[in-house]
Amino acid sequence: MGKPTGFLEYGRAANPCEPPEARVKHWNEFHPPLDIPERQRQGARCMDCGVPFCQSGLKLGSGFTGCPLHNMAPEWNDLIYHGNFEEAYKRLRKTNNFPEFTGRVCPALCEAACTCGLHGDPVTVRENELFTVEKAYELGVVKPQPPQVRTDKRVAVVGSGPAGLAAADQLNRRGHSVTVFERDDRVGGLLMYGIPNMKLQKSVVDRRVDLMRAEGVEFKTGVDVGRDLPAGSLAAVFDAVILCCGAKNPRDLKVPGRDSWGVYFAVDFLSSTTKSLLDSNLKTGTYIDARGKNVVVVGGGDTGNDCVGTAIRHGCASVTQLEMMPRPPAQRDALANPWPEWPRVEKTDYGQQEAIALFGHDPRLYQRTVKEIVPDENGNVKELVTVSLRPHQENGRTVMVPVEGSEETLPCDLLLIAAGFLGTESYIPESFGVDADARSNIATAPGSFRTSNPKIFAAGDTRRGQSLVVHAIAEGRSAAREVDEFLMGYTNLI
Ligand SMILES: Cc1cc2nc3c(=O)[nH]c(=O)nc-3n(C[C@H](O)[C@H](O)[C@H](O)COP(=O)(O)OP(=O)(O)OC[C@H]3O[C@@H](n4cnc5c(N)ncnc54)[C@H](O)[C@@H]3O)c2cc1C
Ligand code: SF4
Repeated sequence: MGKPTGFLEYGRAANPCEPPEARVKHWNEFHPPLDIPERQRQGARCMDCGVPFCQSGLKLGSGFTGCPLHNMAPEWNDLIYHGNFEEAYKRLRKTNNFPEFTGRVCPALCEAACTCGLHGDPVTVRENELFTVEKAYELGVVKPQPPQVRTDKRVAVVGSGPAGLAAADQLNRRGHSVTVFERDDRVGGLLMYGIPNMKLQKSVVDRRVDLMRAEGVEFKTGVDVGRDLPAGSLAAVFDAVILCCGAKNPRDLKVPGRDSWGVYFAVDFLSSTTKSLLDSNLKTGTYIDARGKNVVVVGGGDTGNDCVGTAIRHGCASVTQLEMMPRPPAQRDALANPWPEWPRVEKTDYGQQEAIALFGHDPRLYQRTVKEIVPDENGNVKELVTVSLRPHQENGRTVMVPVEGSEETLPCDLLLIAAGFLGTESYIPESFGVDADARSNIATAPGSFRTSNPKIFAAGDTRRGQSLVVHAIAEGRSAAREVDEFLMGYTNLI
């Protein structure tokens, strides 16, 4: 720790943020960086406390605490403070293949576990991470490093989200020849077609993919393995296969009127916007358009928030988010949810802030859901019948049940379903002939990434269910380690 009194002398300073009224007029990221002296002060706030929960990555309570990648935040915070930016990047790169992704979109499990946050404000670990990797690009430190020696082993990775990219990067660096198959027209999985451009600019994904290409990873887009290409042929040609296919199966809304026009799944709405934005700056008009519409989003989570921010940028007339569960508390419950557990508190994210600024109220309605979708005479959604919900104990579990007589109608021209995901699409385990678990994820042996076929492995959301980018990277790295050991008889990957 270079500055023993840093945490006493300096307050937390986050990156500035463009005001909602200005940023909704464009689709770009809206957090300009701090200047370098301030960033160094933010590094100096890290106490190197000796019990770095920030890098623990432990399951604690009902969630995770600390960084699942075990990023050595105290080490690079200190290097940032001392201005040794290149070394900071080298330490960061040891544990995280893609800090430019997590530095932008990670919910920062590390900060929730930061000792500074116990009685004050945590260190800005995520933004320190983002500064470190962007500075490294600027300094020319991030450059292609193809392996000097190639093994004769070939690995196929199916799916190019963060799990697939991390597995491919690790195995390529080890000298194996890696081919990544992706059914979409662009590489990146939900980094590309899920998370909106204003949270993660797509040039950032392309920059990393170009680097991996230059290092020897082969990408084949527009190939749906199991449909366009028989899964068996892949398993026959390659020495190992890693399935990183995500968990794209969306939870549907089972209510009367579901077949009305104007009802879409959230990811289809978000990805159609991103594709059109990248192809033609939205000139193709081939996206699901919210302009002038009363938009209702079912689901109060992060995906729902992305729909709110995207609908606002389209120029929607209004936006409402329906959430089944009760409003979370503003402050953590010190007994039921103590530090360093992940705090279960209400978060007002960028889309919701924008809705408040533009429409004057929070878009979220808690303890409310859709009872019926009412179409007009042409079959287009016109309004929703919604109903309140209340908690009810059933077989020792709390379930949300409708409150009789609480029906209300809500105007709606576009309904977006962001109600979560139900695992991997079934054709994937079926075509590869591997077992799925009770939650439709690809099953692996406990503590392992190997499926019921010894040559086929699985990582990321396809194995653990819908999760986070940081978990996907961690899974991709761990699967790569196991595959390397399978191919070579030992591994030196970490
Ligand atoms: C809208 C949205 C916003 C999110 N925002 C955040 C966020 O801000 N922060 C965060 O940490 N997490 C976020 N997440 C979660 C995060 O994006 C995922 O947990 C993560 O991307 C999972 O990575 P993955 O590699 O396992 O799968 P994915 O990213 O889903 O990638 C899987 C890839 O496999 C491809 N594929 C599937 N089957 C085949 C096949 N048969 N042949 C070829 N290719 C195939 C798919 O096309 C896809 O590209 C968000 C998720 C969504 C839906
Ligand atoms: S990856 Fe996420 S949890 Fe890990 S150090 Fe970065 S911001 Fe924190």
